[in-house]
Amino acid sequence: MSLKGKTAIITGSNSGIGLGVARELARAGADVVLNSFTDREEDHALAAEIGKEFGVTARYIKADMSKGAECRALIEQAGRCDILVNNAGIQHVAAVDEFPIEKWDAIIAINLSSAFHTTAAALPMMRKAGWGRVVNIASAHGLTASPFKSAYVAAKHGVVGFTKTVALETAEEPITCNAICPGYVLTPLVEAQIPDQMKVHDMDRETVIREVMLTRQPSKEFATVEQLGGTTVFLCSDAAAQITGTTISVDGGWTAL
Ligand code: NAD
Repeated sequence: MSLKGKTAIITGSNSGIGLGVARELARAGADVVLNSFTDREEDHALAAEIGKEFGVTARYIKADMSKGAECRALIEQAGRCDILVNNAGIQHVAAVDEFPIEKWDAIIAINLSSAFHTTAAALPMMRKAGWGRVVNIASAHGLTASPFKSAYVAAKHGVVGFTKTVALETAEEPITCNAICPGYVLTPLVEAQIPDQMKVHDMDRETVIREVMLTRQPSKEFATVEQLGGTTVFLCSDAAAQITGTTISVDGGWTAL
């Protein structure tokens, strides 16, 4: 599968899943635009490294996905968008009656509304190019719930609903819109929690992963950022041209329970 000549914009891609997806899209030949809300030398260096490693054009554009105007400006500044991966996301854990209002607002803005703004700005570019792929990184929490994650669960269910609507609005065009629903993914953030969990539970690494972290993931294995990147590349392939408005779970069986 070659994505040569396509430009992919991946929101929230200076770490974790977004970075993994950007790398797999670049490996498949796409030019990539990385993004986050920071503007550090290392952000731009990350893009340069990807460009060098895979022989593609790779840029980093700063934009805060909690602000609608910046979401739209990211797409405009990139100048072209064949593949849009809405990945930026944050989490906060608290009971509904204690959930900080500003955290609720931030989660809805970054995890849900940003996808509306970027997609609205990208669709005219996709129509002009005669081809487009929107891939929303939702979550197993877009299909099921957990206590204390009301904003996250609401936002991710919203992303799944938004995905279906965009798919219907573009159904007769060579544009698709789908959501990927990961279970627990081994990102640097998750990796960093393992030593603390080992201490708290007095367990070795394998036991803490199986018994504490992956209690809801029947495979008892984390998904990887490479697997999520590979799923994104598949959704951009010709084989996936008739896949639209749906969710693909990459969750080791979580949502089969
Ligand atoms: P992460 O914290 O490593 O990555 C989040 C990315 O979003 C980072 O690049 C961060 O800089 C960026 N970001 C945060 N706020 C932003 C803002 N205001 N503007 C622009 N960028 C911003 O986390 P991750 O695990 O890679 O998560 C990526 C996505 O995958 C999220 O949407 C998350 O909900 C989803 N997800 C993660 C898991 C998991 O187990 N890690 C599981 C299911 C879904």
